Amino acid sequence: MIRGSCLCGAVAFEIEGSLTPIQLCHAARCRKATGGAFAPELLAPATGFRWARGEDRVSVYEAPLLEEPPAYRRAFCRTCGSPLPIEMPGGVFVGLLAGVLDDDPGTQPFRHAFLRQQAAWYTIEDELPRFEWRPPRP
Ligand SMILES: [Zn+2]
Repeated sequence: MIRGSCLCGAVAFEIEGSLTPIQLCHAARCRKATGGAFAPELLAPATGFRWARGEDRVSVYEAPLLEEPPAYRRAFCRTCGSPLPIEMPGGVFVGLLAGVLDDDPGTQPFRHAFLRQQAAWYTIEDELPRFEWRPPRP
C-alpha cells in the first residue's frame, strides 16, 4: 500500500496496486497549480484508491476550457492548498502528483511533457524523452 497526505495532515489517502511512471509536465497550468517548474504526474488504479481521512476537506477547481475537453481539474485541501488526487475522465484512473506521497511509489520519471510551455528559468539535465505537447497515455 502507498500512502499520501496533504501539508496540514487533514487529508490522507491510500493506494493499492501499481502506479504508472511519473510524467513531468511543464504546461503553464501545471506550473501554476504546483508552483514548480513542472508537475510530477502519475496515475493510480481508481479501484485501488481510497481516502483514509478528510475527504470532506477536498475541493475541486475546474479551469476554463482552453481548446478541447477534458477540462483541466485540480483537487486540493481546503485548509492548506496541497494538490490532491482526482479521478481522471473515464473513471479508470486517479491522477495525482508524486510530491504528496508519503511512501515510495515504486516508479520514476520517464518523460517530459508540454515543453512548448517550459519555464525560462529551468534547464532539463536528464536524457528522458521530451514531448512538445501532450504525449500519448502510457
Ligand atoms: Zn491540508
